[in-house]
Amino acid sequence: QVRVRFPPSPTGNMHVGNIRSALFNWAFARHFGGKLVLRIEDTDTARNSPEALQYTLDSLHWLGIDWDEGPEVGGEYGPYLQSERLDIYRDVVERLLAAGKAYYCYCSQEELDQRREAARSAGQHSGYDGHCRALTAEQVQAYVDEGRRPVVRLRMPDRPIRFNDLVRGEITFLPENLGDYVLVRANGHPLYPLVNPVDDALMEITHVLRGEDLLSSTPRQIALYEALAEIGVGNGRTPLFGHLPFVMGEGNKKLSKRDPSSGLDEYMQRGFLPEGLLNYLALLGWSIADDRDVFTMDEMIKAFDIRKVNANAARFDPKKAEAINASHMRLLAPDEFAKRVIPYLAKAGLLPAEPSAEQLSVLQAAVPLVQERMNTLSESVEMLGFLFVDESAFSIDPDSAAKVLTGDAAAVLEATSKALEGLSEWKTEAIEAALRESLIDGLGLKPKNAFGPVRVAISGRRISPPLFESLELLGRERSLSRLERARA
Ligand code: GLU
Repeated sequence: QVRVRFPPSPTGNMHVGNIRSALFNWAFARHFGGKLVLRIEDTDTARNSPEALQYTLDSLHWLGIDWDEGPEVGGEYGPYLQSERLDIYRDVVERLLAAGKAYYCYCSQEELDQRREAARSAGQHSGYDGHCRALTAEQVQAYVDEGRRPVVRLRMPDRPIRFNDLVRGEITFLPENLGDYVLVRANGHPLYPLVNPVDDALMEITHVLRGEDLLSSTPRQIALYEALAEIGVGNGRTPLFGHLPFVMGEGNKKLSKRDPSSGLDEYMQRGFLPEGLLNYLALLGWSIADDRDVFTMDEMIKAFDIRKVNANAARFDPKKAEAINASHMRLLAPDEFAKRVIPYLAKAGLLPAEPSAEQLSVLQAAVPLVQERMNTLSESVEMLGFLFVDESAFSIDPDSAAKVLTGDAAAVLEATSKALEGLSEWKTEAIEAALRESLIDGLGLKPKNAFGPVRVAISGRRISPPLFESLELLGRERSLSRLERARA
């Protein structure tokens, strides 16, 4: 059975890179009917907090990525918080030491630096030189008497480490580039290169799918899996690895966590649909077909194949992300669309979180007018705000006023008011007929010069849903009063 894992360090905002890893693991697990394990890598106590953990879980819920084992759901391989597994790591390290797979190293930082420098200037490899690999009991005692506290290092095999990466094919690391590395700090703190593979082994993970930035730690981890197998930790099987391509941002530089376009917060605030964001992130290294960019998560799960992931760096394109999201916005049923914009309108103070029946019917009538024109849900504030804003708070965007409400605009608005005042029926068709007759036929204006000022007067902006429909939705009274105000 396929068992994959997503092991975030809960330090706050999730970013594009780790959401993509979560997505690919999830799609892989679901494709094979396997299990996705959510493991929280929270041993770095200085940077972790319960709030950050909750935030990570909420983010995954928002994205719709569910897990089969982990926080909230439990499972047979728990606990799933590394901070609750410290005894396990201590025990494994004891066993590695007892079996001679790991050893204590007493070298001080200055000594290491000095020898590394000397090796470098002699043109030799500058990894750990194995100084403490075979200390005698007397040497150890001497260090202990000096008050030195040791780190624990893994004894690396003296042979190349090869593996067949599911994305990149065969990869070989030579032993001269793989010095014995530190598993446990002198203060007893277990490090990522220890705890991550130990948990993968104990949780019987079959496939490790993660970012290319971790590729260089893989040969070391493989050596550790092998040592763990020999001391009977886990089921003895080294997982298969697939390293997902780098994501490049602006200027072809690696997308950094600090880049605002890399954080999940940004996408939630702008009102991306989770399915739109995930669809876009899926395209960072994978595609469903050459001629198709837009797909549902069900379609992705069905088609997902880790061996089809492209090893070349992917380019992050915020414009394309928006376009993909817009496609998903159009796929929503109108009622669902209305439901999803409510929180954004509510946050802007335009609607209560639970709108009245009347507000809802205006919103539902407005959806077909804007659904094709919006890229993100937060655009509803600009697009639909004029329908819900309190009259006393309604204002015209100064830039639009300066550009459009000039010259003949007052005359146009006056003619508009006259034409509309006498309308017996406040309906789109009647409104349109009256305005065409009065402004185009009567005043001889071009449509742009006729309707531009009316649009700005009633919506406050140059871009709005279609004008005549907007007037109908706004209602007679509010329309006429805004036309009047715009003339003043
Ligand atoms: N906690 C690590 C991270 O968030 C996990 C990396 C891995 O998948 O091995 O970067």
